[in-house]
Amino acid sequence: MTRNQPQPFVSRQDITPSPQDDKPKALRIDADLLIPGRGKPISNATLIFSQGTILHVGPTTSLSKDHARLEAERKVPFLMPGLWDVHVHFFGEASPSLENVAYTQPALAGFRAARDMLSLLDAGFTSVREVGGYGVDFKTGIDEGWIPGPNIYSAGAPLSQTAGHGDLHSVPLSLMHDKIAAGMPLALADGVDEAIKATRTQIRRGAKLIKICSTGGVMSRIDSPRAAQFTNKELEAVVEEARRTGLVVASHAHGTEGIIAAINAGVHTIEHGSYLTKEAIDLMVQKKIMLVATRTIVANGVDNPDTMPPDSYKKLLEIADSNRKSYEAAIKAGVKCALGTDLGLSNAKLGFHHGMNGREFGYAVEAGMTPLEAIEAGTANGPDTLGPQAPKSGILKEGFDADFIALERSPLEDIKVLAKPDEVSHVWKGGRLVKEPGRGVSILEC
Ligand SMILES: [Zn+2]
Repeated sequence: MTRNQPQPFVSRQDITPSPQDDKPKALRIDADLLIPGRGKPISNATLIFSQGTILHVGPTTSLSKDHARLEAERKVPFLMPGLWDVHVHFFGEASPSLENVAYTQPALAGFRAARDMLSLLDAGFTSVREVGGYGVDFKTGIDEGWIPGPNIYSAGAPLSQTAGHGDLHSVPLSLMHDKIAAGMPLALADGVDEAIKATRTQIRRGAKLIKICSTGGVMSRIDSPRAAQFTNKELEAVVEEARRTGLVVASHAHGTEGIIAAINAGVHTIEHGSYLTKEAIDLMVQKKIMLVATRTIVANGVDNPDTMPPDSYKKLLEIADSNRKSYEAAIKAGVKCALGTDLGLSNAKLGFHHGMNGREFGYAVEAGMTPLEAIEAGTANGPDTLGPQAPKSGILKEGFDADFIALERSPLEDIKVLAKPDEVSHVWKGGRLVKEPGRGVSILEC
C-alpha cells in the first residue's frame, strides 16, 4: 500500500493463497479452553477462520477431515472473543476540562487519539461503541488502513439541550454554534424540529446509533446529574427519527426522572443509570432496555481527585455510591448489561485513560456477575447495544467476525487478568494477528 493512495484494508494473512488451490487459506488455532462469549466454555477446542470470518468452533476431537488436516498456527491456553467497550469517547483531549474541546484543533485531537486506538487493541479491545466524539472520522481512517485500531461504531456528536450535559457552559453560545457547524463533535438542540435535525445531522456523518443526554452530568459545569434534560416530546422525536433509519438511541442518564423519561421515549440503552429505582429497573426488564453502568470512570475518577475540576469531583462523589448500588440492583433483577467504561481522555498520566478498559470486567463481578456473565456482558452483549446495526461479533461462532484474543491465565479464575494488557498475549482483529508475544501492536504494520 502506498501512503498517498489509501486502499481498503486487506490483511497479509487474508491474501495468502493455500498451496493446493487459489481459495483463501483457512487458519487454525487450538486452545486448552475456548470461552465463546455466550454459552459454555469448551476444553481442548479448535477455531478455524478465513478472510476475517470464523468458519468453525468446536472440540478438537470432532473436527471435519479437512479441518483436522490443517496444522494449528497457534496453540494457546485460553481463547475468547475480542473485547467490547460500549461506552467510550474519542475527543483527543488531554485534560479533563471539557471546555477544551472547543479550543483544540481537530488535527491535534486526532493525533492524540491515534495512540488510544493502539492502546485499545493492545488491551484486547477489538470493538468499541463510541457515544460521542470523533469516532466517525477515526473509523474511516482505521478502515482505510492508516493505523491499526478497533472496529468503531460511533454516535457522532452526543445530542444535548442548550445548558445540558453536552453544552460547554463557559464557551460563548455563538462560538459553540460556529464550532458545531465546523465539525466539533457536540450538538445542541432545542425543540422537536432541532432534535430531528440534530439526529439527521449525525446520520449524515455516519453515526451507527444516536446518543442523547436526558440528564445533567458530572463533567459538565453547571448542571446537576439529577436534573432531567430534554422534554418528553424532544426525546420521542429523536427516538422516532433514529428508528426510521434503523438506529437505536443510547441515553446518558443519571437522575431518576431523566432515566424514566428516556425509557418511556423508547431508548435502547441507559448509560450510567446512577439513580435507578425499582420502577426504572422493572421497566428496563420489561422493555428489554440494556444498562451500561460505566463503573471504570466513576471508580477511577474517585481515586484521582487531583485530575478533575473540583466542581466535577464533588458531583462524582455524589453519584459514585448510588451508581454502584443501582448496578447491583439491576444485575440482581436481571437487567441485561453490557460493559462500558466512559474512558475518553488521551492522557496516560490521568489515572483514567484508554488501555485500562478491561477493569470494567472486575467491577461487573464486584457488582454481582459471575466471571462468565461478565465476559458475556463484555463480549457477546456488546453488539446488542446497537440494535439492528449489531455486527456479527462478540461470539466465537461460525459466521462471526474473526476477532479474538488469547490469554496465559484463566479469566474465569481471576477476572482481573482482563484488566492488564500484559496478560493479553495475542490479539486477532478481522483474522489478522496484531499482537503476539514479543511483537506489540505497531502503527507501521498496516
Ligand atoms: Zn460518556
